Amino acid sequence: MAGPRIALGGFMLESNGHAPVATRAEFEASCWLEGEALAADLAKPAPRAPAGLSGFIRAMDAGRPWQPVFTIAATAGASGPMDQDVFDDVVARLEAALRAAMPLDGVFLALHGAATATVDRDPDGTLLRRVRAIVGPDVPVLGTLDLHANVAWSMVEAADMLAAYITNPHVDQAERGAECAAVMRAMLGGMRPRSAFVKLPFIPPATSQNTTAGPYADAIAHGQRYLDHEVLNVSISSGFSLGDTPKNGLSVIVTTRTDGDRARQVAAEIADWIWSTRERWITNLTSLEDATALALAAGRDPAAPSLLFADVADNPGGGGRGNTAFILESFVRAGVEGAVFGIHNDPALAAEAHALGLGSRFTARFNRDETNIFSKPFEAEAVVEALTDGEVVGRRGIYRGRSVSTGPTALLRIGGVRVAVVTNRRQLAEPRMVESLGVDLRAVRSLVVKSRGHFRAGFDDIWTPDRIIEVDVPGLTTVVLTRVPWREVPRPIYPLDAGMEWKAAGVSLRGG
Ligand SMILES: [Zn+2]
Repeated sequence: MAGPRIALGGFMLESNGHAPVATRAEFEASCWLEGEALAADLAKPAPRAPAGLSGFIRAMDAGRPWQPVFTIAATAGASGPMDQDVFDDVVARLEAALRAAMPLDGVFLALHGAATATVDRDPDGTLLRRVRAIVGPDVPVLGTLDLHANVAWSMVEAADMLAAYITNPHVDQAERGAECAAVMRAMLGGMRPRSAFVKLPFIPPATSQNTTAGPYADAIAHGQRYLDHEVLNVSISSGFSLGDTPKNGLSVIVTTRTDGDRARQVAAEIADWIWSTRERWITNLTSLEDATALALAAGRDPAAPSLLFADVADNPGGGGRGNTAFILESFVRAGVEGAVFGIHNDPALAAEAHALGLGSRFTARFNRDETNIFSKPFEAEAVVEALTDGEVVGRRGIYRGRSVSTGPTALLRIGGVRVAVVTNRRQLAEPRMVESLGVDLRAVRSLVVKSRGHFRAGFDDIWTPDRIIEVDVPGLTTVVLTRVPWREVPRPIYPLDAGMEWKAAGVSLRGG
């Protein structure tokens, strides 16, 4: 084998500071792959490992020969702060793999960037620093970041470039990996980029972060207009506000080929421009009462457009438990017809339905084992309408071409509504998660999803933005930021603190 030796790895967790601790089991249920097993996974048509790695590998393969060195990919979607021992283990395994592989010519990591651990408040920064310490200052270290990364200077300082997704839903993960491959090639040829970093005192509500239209779409477009021969990458990460960490806040990273002054100037200009748009990011939700009336009407009139109701406050993709019953209870009590709820996380209920079998009638007791205050018990007479093992390969949006498992899954009928009950906590972003249960989405009158926004790319062939209702119910991932019991978010911060003035100053610069 000839060509540069590039180490590949991944670490992804989005930590909600108010959700239960993220365990090793959660990583293992999602993706924990090392060495040969990681290589084998990424060679499959539908890997579990992050799409950024696939994109990087494909782009590198299209060029001159190179040698991938597979280290570890540990990902767990969104949960709470990571068990410190599990994080330490991930880093130790990554370090051991890098040490064994030295000398290396480069490192590429698919990162999320919004993890916290139970002790370490900046695991992503720690991981990058430890990688840098092993490979030294001259070996390129590149990484992709989630659009919701809570970026810290420690992360920017340790990497040569961090490229955040520019789409939400995140359908450009592979593309950003490919972008890193191009920069890797240029760095192997001698380029040494500079990165400027600005953090805004601004935590935008999660529901105003769609990148197809609205203030975030405009911010991304504004940033991308600066790209030219000198400006390599503009990354605007809104951050994950519910992480509730000292590194919360929207951030701008601008990476240039050589010109540090240009990087700083562009970063400051973009940051000031976004700050000037901050009032546009405040959103309006629909009350549960109004949402229930809309669902009732949709169920009664088959000629009216069907609706999609987003339970944005219980989004497993943001650390929600995926099992609150506020909307379910309201729709059932009101007698809504033709509604499908997907997907409701309740391992005990899914197991009971599997044990009882198809066609069984029983009293479905939701949330019998749950302890979170928002996940209140709910009981109703139910019929088991479908049972699956929950293994699907995604066909649209963020799960397209990826393997994902909801574990043993059951479709329960409760009066006029059906509920897809799952064993693995996931967000409903992929149509096959309910279609595999025999649900015809085009015949559904109301689809209720536990998801903040990723559902949009999965269901936009049926539910266009004008048919999407974001419902205001309580939950761990509420977008009504004034309701969150903040502990660590730096203050003052917009929109929690009124009458703030701010201007980009003291832009940090890496390189040169
Ligand atoms: Zn994200």
